[in-house]
Amino acid sequence: MEIKQECEKIDILSLSLAELEQEMASLGEPKFRAKQVFEWLHQRRVESFAGMTNLSIQLRTRLSDLFCIKSLFIIKKLESYTDNTVKYLYELSDTDHVETVLMDYHHGTSICISTQVGCKMGCQFCASTIAGYKRNLEPSEMLLQIYQAQRDSGRKISSVVLMGIGEPLDNYDNVLKFLRLISAPEGYGLSLRHVSLSTCGLVPMIDKLAEEKLGLTLSVSLHAADDAARSAIMPVNLKYPLATLLASCTHYFQRTGRRISFEYAVIEGVNDSQAAARQLAALIGKSGSHVNLIPVNKVKERKFSGSRKSAERFCGYLTAAGVNATVRRTLGAGIDAACGQLRRSHEAEPKTKSENA
Ligand code: SAH
Repeated sequence: MEIKQECEKIDILSLSLAELEQEMASLGEPKFRAKQVFEWLHQRRVESFAGMTNLSIQLRTRLSDLFCIKSLFIIKKLESYTDNTVKYLYELSDTDHVETVLMDYHHGTSICISTQVGCKMGCQFCASTIAGYKRNLEPSEMLLQIYQAQRDSGRKISSVVLMGIGEPLDNYDNVLKFLRLISAPEGYGLSLRHVSLSTCGLVPMIDKLAEEKLGLTLSVSLHAADDAARSAIMPVNLKYPLATLLASCTHYFQRTGRRISFEYAVIEGVNDSQAAARQLAALIGKSGSHVNLIPVNKVKERKFSGSRKSAERFCGYLTAAGVNATVRRTLGAGIDAACGQLRRSHEAEPKTKSENA
């Protein structure tokens, strides 16, 4: 009952500063109050209105009657034994789960966040889509994956990738709102130059994103360079085939001046031949885009396999054909690395809270 009442209140962490200003005006408060509250939420990250000590007690009580400050609970935390990679399984307020991964690179700590609970896209090699789609994440739930990981790890997060569970462009409005919130100077203040968004290729949404001129890096998950092969592993290709997708990528570059990068999960015997590399070179060779290769991660429900060796061999074919390609460093040995696997294995287990982090 208590939780239901909380959820009926306004999710204050999802409000932009302008929206908060409107809310404050309707409470008869001056404009600068909104900035004070916004800073408490996004800079000092208080978890209750009681902690907003420069506001009067009456206002704090008023705010807690009208708004809720959402939270995420870490219910599992896996730490790699070879590097500093940490994978969190979070429980949302409605008991759904999402995953977040924290990784250390030479340039700082990066976080990979989820944008939906489950996924509709049906990519054959991906664990996130096996049980289907449940719901979109709210902007606050995307922010909290970062705030909680930072609080728990004590590490300052300097870059964000939207490459966890879900298709970010299928949750366009909330993702855009999240991007505006995380980059707000009065909040976390992360430059969108340090944000990458990965999509399976929802063409109308790529076109829409091009008009926002956000300065982020757009990654497109390609995984095959001919329509039959791509449609077999990525159903989205039936709707937006390669010619349409690549035209949209070119348009994105023309509108934003930002080159798209391509993701390619190398799957043995499926997309790793020399002929496949030549097709890929013919498709994107002239664009100057970078191709990130990753050996496909084993997903227990699927038969696909990958290895560093085949990814490196494929990388050699691409480089010889003039494509700018690298095999991504594999982080997080020993933890369920493929996106969506931790959530899946947790949801298959009998429910207990005894393994709380
Ligand atoms: N829906 C978005 C973002 C989430 S998936 C997208 O499709 O881009 C993030 C990346 O991980 C995508 O490139 C996706 O194709 C890739 N991926 C998913 N499952 C994988 C697996 N088992 N092994 C390697 N890469 C995988």
